Amino acid sequence: MKTRTLAIIKPDAVASGHTGKIISRITNEGFSILGSKQIKMNLSQAEGFYDIHRGKPFFEELTQFMSSGSCIVLALEKENAVKEWRNVIGATNPDEADEGTIRKLYAKDLGQNAVHGSDSAENGQKEIAYFFAEFELILN
Ligand code: GDP
Ligand code: MG
Repeated sequence: MKTRTLAIIKPDAVASGHTGKIISRITNEGFSILGSKQIKMNLSQAEGFYDIHRGKPFFEELTQFMSSGSCIVLALEKENAVKEWRNVIGATNPDEADEGTIRKLYAKDLGQNAVHGSDSAENGQKEIAYFFAEFELILN
């Protein structure tokens, strides 16, 4: 069954000029891009997105980082999109990510790790709805 996942190209990867290569990878891996845009979150928008991590020791660093510069948010669709995208991006910590994964290739460190991926189809739908109105999602 086709499912959806939210991808974010995080501020470190955008600032380092990796956007084009990451979008090429997304299409080469067979994902349909239903929506995409460049955004810059304020702190409260980043805190809302990462609400699940509120209270964790890295929450402030994470939300400061995610509101520090431009991100590209993308709504992706594919068979098993959540798992497939997480396979492409690799482990959260780039030191533990497999060779060839986006985080292995482009992440700076555990915090500034280039890309986001949803962790379940249900959260994928919620995260896409956090950034996209229905009319911004083009169904082919
Ligand atoms: P993900 O689903 O692989 O992105 O990982 P998590 O949901 O566990 O964490 C969300 C994001 O918080 C990660 O992608 C990192 O950017 C950041 N993060 C997670 N754990 C740590 C940590 O221990 N230290 C720091 N500085 N950032 C972290
Ligand atoms: Mg996560």
